[in-house]
Amino acid sequence: MSVLSHTNVFEPPTPLDAQGPRELVGLSRHELAEAVAALGEPAFRARQLWRWIYGRGVTDFAVMTDIAKALRVRLAEHFTIGRPGVARGQASADGTRKWLIRLTDRHEVETVHIPEEDRGTLCVSSQVGCTLTCRFCHTGTQRLVRNLQASEIVGQVMLARDALEDWHTPDGDRRISNIVMMGMGEPLYNFDHVAKALKIVMDGEGISISRRRITLSTAGVVPMMHRCGEELGVNLAVSLHAVTDALRDELVPLNRKYPIAELIGACRDYPGLNNARRITFEYVMLRDVNDSPADARALVRLIRGIPAKINLIPFNPWPGSAYECSTAEAIDRFSKIVLDAGYASPVRTPRGRDILAACGQLKSASQRQGSAAAAARRQAAARQAATG
Ligand code: SAH
Repeated sequence: MSVLSHTNVFEPPTPLDAQGPRELVGLSRHELAEAVAALGEPAFRARQLWRWIYGRGVTDFAVMTDIAKALRVRLAEHFTIGRPGVARGQASADGTRKWLIRLTDRHEVETVHIPEEDRGTLCVSSQVGCTLTCRFCHTGTQRLVRNLQASEIVGQVMLARDALEDWHTPDGDRRISNIVMMGMGEPLYNFDHVAKALKIVMDGEGISISRRRITLSTAGVVPMMHRCGEELGVNLAVSLHAVTDALRDELVPLNRKYPIAELIGACRDYPGLNNARRITFEYVMLRDVNDSPADARALVRLIRGIPAKINLIPFNPWPGSAYECSTAEAIDRFSKIVLDAGYASPVRTPRGRDILAACGQLKSASQRQGSAAAAARRQAAARQAATG
């Protein structure tokens, strides 16, 4: 079944225009060193560049004062330090910000910043659209899907740091202190680019956000979970949402490929788990679908023995969605059962709902407009058919 494979994903355009200057953002340290060596420059130049690019957010070689002027000119001839283009920026009444990013091939993704008292979290996309078609998620209704390149993933972080003026804030005050790979797309279906980007983000001489402050969320791509823990060591969130295969098959079609027992097994084996490092199980609260006390009890039985917390997400509606959010009483009841079993069960406060920036609401505006235009065309055709 095509929805369960990722073979229908378009690959990104090649970033390198053989003739033009080469983009440096998104290169690994090793690749950057090679690019610099190709100009006949010593290895320490790569380190200087790395610090300017990722430590200070500089986009212009001219300001790199510890590099001789003639070399700065040469670097500018061969390289660029870019940012993704922003098609639209929006701010919610609650302080959440959302950027619609236009990529060089005109596809679009969204990035969301959620300020809180003790942290600022950037929600980053890993793909244009998503192949998973989870029934309650808006992004899954977007047909076109392609993987993002590392430069486009790191680019989201850099662009947000620019917009939030966060390049020079002292460590404790950073507006972007945490990163969640919870935007558009399934990060474990684009692991190589995501891993490359996160290694850049974690690098201590650059953006320097620790793996403890990074969470990757997956709908359950079981074969990639171990590698994610081993190679990146980031926190894992798992979009569970149901406790029986019958229901999860329906809500998260990926379950037909990797059923609950396999998924829970992979969670148990996730590298580095302990009480200080737990798996987050995400559970979207859908009225009369998955929110009964029996569901809550089955949930705690299912995850017994796994260091875990459970994040209850009130369902965020979107135009045309088939579900309703659980009542406040149902959420309280569910949360209490989970809490009594010894698991933290914070209810995620919806943020940025007014700008469709909340969980599951992301979808490129062009796609929204596109589908609105298609709907209008269908209506016009129907009217014509009716009158004709
Ligand atoms: N593909 C990954 C990353 C996306 S994270 C994953 O599935 O984990 C986005 C989170 O928001 C997931 O937990 C998803 O299940 C949840 N979500 C999707 N639609 C939602 C909606 N309408 N309301 C609330 N949460 C939703």
